[in-house]
Amino acid sequence: MNENGNGTRYGLVVAIDGPAGAGKSTVAQHLARRFGLLNLETGAMYRALALKALQRGTTVDDAEEVLALTGHTRIVLEPSDAGNRVLLDGEDVTAELRAPQVTTAASFVSVHGPVREWMVRAQRSLGLASPAGVVMEGRDIGTVVFPDAPVKIFLDASVEARGDRRFAQQPTAAESRDALLHQMRDRDTRDRERVQSPLRPAADAVLLDTTTLSLEQVLQRTEQLVQAHLDSRSSN
Ligand code: C5P
Repeated sequence: MNENGNGTRYGLVVAIDGPAGAGKSTVAQHLARRFGLLNLETGAMYRALALKALQRGTTVDDAEEVLALTGHTRIVLEPSDAGNRVLLDGEDVTAELRAPQVTTAASFVSVHGPVREWMVRAQRSLGLASPAGVVMEGRDIGTVVFPDAPVKIFLDASVEARGDRRFAQQPTAAESRDALLHQMRDRDTRDRERVQSPLRPAADAVLLDTTTLSLEQVLQRTEQLVQAHLDSRSSN
């Protein structure tokens, strides 16, 4: 158990950040199962808000319009063994969140500072509400959402390797590999260059470049990191 500034006790937080296709979801799911933690995918929350913006005809690059939407939006993540179920205003929208237009819109809505603040508040309370602890994955978990997380992992890989992995995951999608790579580069640029909480590793994050690693190697290495923390905690 950790304690925040208000004296509230909460469980272990494992922060996993990195660009799209670096393997965050696979690693997060594995660590959550292995260590009995809740797995929270913060990207799904940005995707849900983007879906609502698309449904309402909101201009996704207009900060005020998107912020106004948050005033009457409720996003709930329900972690399960197979990933997160996402409820948007009470409706299960999980199946709609991976559509290419939602992916692109999420990358636009997430640029706006006040929208991020709204998300970060929700993500912190989700993390604090889990006494067992959480694996939280996203872009700013180790830098902004849980800067005190005792285990921070930043996964990266070349854009080609990331694009190939994504393409292999969705071979029947309408997008060609080139279109997918192009979209990924654009998303990377928006994530890395935005003013508020740009994608970057926290100073105390462990960086893992997975370009030439097998999935098995990545899972083993990340598992060791969490185990090392738990061992150090129990020996203190
Ligand atoms: O992780 P995922 O690809 O589902 O995230 C969708 C989009 O949400 C990302 O492209 C990124 O722009 C944004 N995002 C973010 N901060 C997070 C999680 C996701 O800006 N913590």
